[in-house]
Amino acid sequence: MAEAKTTAPAQTNPAAEPPVLEVTDLKKHFPVQSGVLRRTIGHVYAVDGVTFSVGRGETLGLVGESGCGKSTVGRTAMRLLEPTAGSIKLSGVDVTHLSKEELRPYRRQMQIIFQDPFSSLNPRMTAGEIVKEPLYIHNIGDNASRQEMTKALFDRVGLRQAQMNNYPHQFSGGQRQRIGIARALALNPHLIVGDEPVSALDVSIQAQVINLMMDLQEEMEVAYLFIAHDLAVVEHISDYVAVMYLGRIVEYADKKTLFRNPLHPYTEALLSAAPIPDPTIRREKKILQGDVPSPVNPPKGCHFNTRCPYAEERCFVEAPILKDKGDGHTVACHLR
Ligand code: SF4
Repeated sequence: MAEAKTTAPAQTNPAAEPPVLEVTDLKKHFPVQSGVLRRTIGHVYAVDGVTFSVGRGETLGLVGESGCGKSTVGRTAMRLLEPTAGSIKLSGVDVTHLSKEELRPYRRQMQIIFQDPFSSLNPRMTAGEIVKEPLYIHNIGDNASRQEMTKALFDRVGLRQAQMNNYPHQFSGGQRQRIGIARALALNPHLIVGDEPVSALDVSIQAQVINLMMDLQEEMEVAYLFIAHDLAVVEHISDYVAVMYLGRIVEYADKKTLFRNPLHPYTEALLSAAPIPDPTIRREKKILQGDVPSPVNPPKGCHFNTRCPYAEERCFVEAPILKDKGDGHTVACHLR
């Protein structure tokens, strides 16, 4: 398939320390197998060459419709999935090809919070055991100190210590996500990947969990890769935003720039569909036609050409590369 560089520039790091996470030309292609012999007949191009970085204490929001590959980016960056190509660096150390054993010390540095707080918690373990588990796995402290650390984590995420003996079903959705956050924080990670961490929660609870994550970030300088389809949530929490479409980053900018001046037709359409809290502001609606095409057989040229109102001949043969439009605002479109 046509090669396209989908490079979002690395953010500048004032202290010249390496980014907490640096992903370069990352690809994840899943084989499609068929028949009794399970022959590979094609590939799902879930992630097709993405580059970005996240610095200490920063949040990069990764947005796009479902099926655009954003969750696969998060899981591959954490080495929960093996990358097909590209490199992953954690605080300057290349972890792309480390074995399971070699990766172990780096696992402590990166944690994930999942979308569904219920199914991601073991129903047979108490909340205290769930939060304490990573401390056991990484052999940190003794029984007494682990207990103290767990109590402190419960305090930190706004849960009562008395709730440590309760089981996940005894908590509300928002409280369960707090347990997930406490578990993620147990090892003092440098990076947390939030894979749609508030999508399953009511709006009022979403705000509480997001505010908690922001407070914890300020306190601990943890970096977030925040994956979401809800633009309002991304706007609230992110410093930088990368917009993904069919396995590629199509636009990248700091939050203010992206929301004020979206350049890619896909970003424009996503923003125009998002509700505005101020009723006096009117925005022209640009309705996206159709669904995201299959990543097994993505369109030639620009992946967005089947839905783009501006598509012209060139868009069907040549994949646009990300161009810098100034101040690190990059966009992959022939016309912008
Ligand atoms: Fe639309 Fe062409 Fe730009 Fe792609 S390159 S977003 S099809 S105008």
